[in-house]
Amino acid sequence: MTEAIRGEGATLHNAAGERFVEELAPRDEVSRAIQDLLSETGERSVGLDMRSIDPAHFPNVVAALRAAGLDPTRELIPVAPAAHYMMGGIVTDLDARSSVPGLYAVGESSCTGLHGANRLASNSLSECFVFARRAVAHALAHPPAPQAPATAAELAALAELPAPATTDRATREELWRDGGILRTPEGLNRLLDSSHPLTRLIARCALLRTESRGAHLRADFPSATPLSTTTTRCSAARTRLPGKPGAEDPLHSRARTARRAKCSHAAREQTPIGVPIIKKSRACL
Ligand SMILES: Cc1cc2nc3c(=O)[nH]c(=O)nc-3n(C[C@H](O)[C@H](O)[C@H](O)COP(=O)(O)OP(=O)(O)OC[C@H]3O[C@@H](n4cnc5c(N)ncnc54)[C@H](O)[C@@H]3O)c2cc1C
Repeated sequence: MTEAIRGEGATLHNAAGERFVEELAPRDEVSRAIQDLLSETGERSVGLDMRSIDPAHFPNVVAALRAAGLDPTRELIPVAPAAHYMMGGIVTDLDARSSVPGLYAVGESSCTGLHGANRLASNSLSECFVFARRAVAHALAHPPAPQAPATAAELAALAELPAPATTDRATREELWRDGGILRTPEGLNRLLDSSHPLTRLIARCALLRTESRGAHLRADFPSATPLSTTTTRCSAARTRLPGKPGAEDPLHSRARTARRAKCSHAAREQTPIGVPIIKKSRACL
């Protein structure tokens, strides 16, 4: 369900039919309010009342709901928070260039500085369009210098690389439980034992980020630290972590690349395009 429906005036209700949250609050606050209620009651969903919304404004949503046997013009729709967007970690400039020559990053993998700590509704697709266009324009204008083709030995070395790890249901569940809306030190430490390397890396970086600024909440660090005084880099991901003495991760070399990526989490407001993106930096992956 798109939150644009709440923007149109749909309201959220508990089992008694009462509203329990300001629907237009930042998305992390709304998610947390729902999650708190669900934890308290053991229910699996709350009700979204969109009966006052013109179905013609959301034809795809309405069609999907009807296909699922729900009539949004007559009944409340059961909803629960879900992972929806990844604010990525590859820092780029305004031409989508990463720090690796010839490598461009667009979309959720990138950290353009366009989004604040809570991505605002419907910015991500626009970001994809805008930055993809800029990336292509830049790449066409700056073709790479011709290179000798890869040698047989280089190709053989590539073939030896392990296949990217795949995710299974257990990985998704553990990440949602311990790296989702509410993060605790115990949960994040548990994730350090995940079988998936990216989950371990997310946990390592999350443990280093001792504040909350949006998207998710660190139970032990609920406030945001002032941007002007905090700069964390992913290089610290190589430090030893509590409970994991000497633990090394195969992703460290990639983390080393990533640590050069300074990520602008410019509070809740959007950062306007044109503002230097590496002004106030903070690690993120
Ligand atoms: C339910 C939902 C609703 C949303 N609603 C909106 C909205 O209303 N407005 C808005 O602006 N944004 C919305 N978004 C967000 C938006 O859809 C995404 O941010 C955007 O599509 C991300 O594009 P992307 O290219 O970065 O990633 P993706 O679209 O995820 O593309 C990544 C691609 O990489 C492929 N891939 C993955 N791993 C590999 C691999 N190892 N090798 C090769 N290929 C691989 C995947 O198959 C996929 O095709 C919504 C997202 C969700 C989940």
